Amino acid sequence: MATSPIELNWISVCAGCGRIYGSQSWRKAMRGELSNVEITHDICPDCIRLLYPNYAQVADRLMQQNIKNQTY
Ligand SMILES: [Zn+2]
Repeated sequence: MATSPIELNWISVCAGCGRIYGSQSWRKAMRGELSNVEITHDICPDCIRLLYPNYAQVADRLMQQNIKNQTY
């Protein structure tokens, strides 16, 4: 039986440092946290600044837009 994408438990892993994104921040994965989940690769703000400094300003602008657009 196929699993719909909405039922999968996805975790974003930074391709640069291996930290994971959860609870609106990047942090080190705890033991076993990456088992039984689907992993997708992303890049954290620190690694963008280190590896792709030309794109750091774009990433900062997008993050500020996301913060402004969040509604609670
Ligand atoms: Zn990173």
